Amino acid sequence: MADARSPLENEIRRLIGIAGPMPIAEYMRLCLTHPQHGYYINRDPLGAGGDFVTSPEISQMFGELIGLWMAAVWRQMGSPENVRIVELGPGRGTMMHDALRAAKVVDGFREAIVLHLVEISPALRQVQERRLQELDTPTAWHDKLEDVPGGPGIIIANEFIDALPVHQAVKQSDGWHERVIDIGPDGNFVIAAAPDPLPFFATSMPRGLRNAPEGAIYEWRDDGIALELGRRVRSNGAALIIDYGHAHYGLGDTLQAVAGHSFTDPLRAPGNADLTAHVDFEALGQSAESMGARIHGPVRQRDLFLRLGIEKRAAALKAGAARNKAAEIEIAFSRLIADGARGMGELFKAIAIAAPELGALPVFEDLS
Ligand code: SAH
Repeated sequence: MADARSPLENEIRRLIGIAGPMPIAEYMRLCLTHPQHGYYINRDPLGAGGDFVTSPEISQMFGELIGLWMAAVWRQMGSPENVRIVELGPGRGTMMHDALRAAKVVDGFREAIVLHLVEISPALRQVQERRLQELDTPTAWHDKLEDVPGGPGIIIANEFIDALPVHQAVKQSDGWHERVIDIGPDGNFVIAAAPDPLPFFATSMPRGLRNAPEGAIYEWRDDGIALELGRRVRSNGAALIIDYGHAHYGLGDTLQAVAGHSFTDPLRAPGNADLTAHVDFEALGQSAESMGARIHGPVRQRDLFLRLGIEKRAAALKAGAARNKAAEIEIAFSRLIADGARGMGELFKAIAIAAPELGALPVFEDLS
């Protein structure tokens, strides 16, 4: 039924009609950031009433401990009088709110900060503005990292890279073929393989995957963001990227859609569900490193927060809380650091990208 389709579905059908099947990355880009109908453009998807919950929304401890990490790195940078604190995809502004509140204890840090928020969603920009107002910190918004002015900076991103478009290729007898979205015989979207193999593709893949069996799927992202991160921090700065994904390259289809806190079919109702895919931390690190930055980690989120002192922070919060509130703090604590499918401690990881001159960074001391 044509009128049951989302406006974006009609638009994607039109584009496929004109130009032919569309790479998965292009489909994902349209689903998330189409200027009128993109998933992130008009809504606040976070929290209990939305589609998914992120770590900073689970507990204030997330932002607080990141704030202390940023302050320690700022000191290591020589406590510059002007520092750009950049956040990629700040969501509701919760992490930065908690981070800067906690970082007040470090002399001179708050006064040195100009905040730069990279956010594509007009709806979320409004939420961020309201949330961060009371901090009284000069704040500018940008569409992309390239637009943030240069200079000493600390860049933070949580669950940002997973929302950047991912390409997929499938191995066939004559090579790797890009996976594309097409319209199937029943009129619904289907995933197909482009007819021609990608030229010279195997030589750009990690060596260990080139001989993958037929049917294997390989995912990759455009390396623009990783190169830009490396370029920015290599003279005086650091970035901390937290996301879900794998520490080493691998094979497999990780594209997933989530709406109303449940998994849904990525090909249904485009624009109405969040689409994400695992972050390949190895690829991210290598690209940033190629620009002259030094890579630290990745570490599991569990280790990041244990090393930042989450146990002490949770104990202090619980000590000052009523009994039901203390139980909530305990649940949040274990969600952030627990292993396995229920927790975020293992699948989520953090990598730091920094100027080589900074040497070892807090949390990553024995890992660099
Ligand atoms: N960091 C937040 C929000 C994660 S959701 C948290 O942890 O709660 C992803 C965020 O990235 C949203 O703010 C979304 O609007 C933003 N975003 C997604 N794709 C983007 C893009 N291509 N450019 C800029 N911002 C983007």
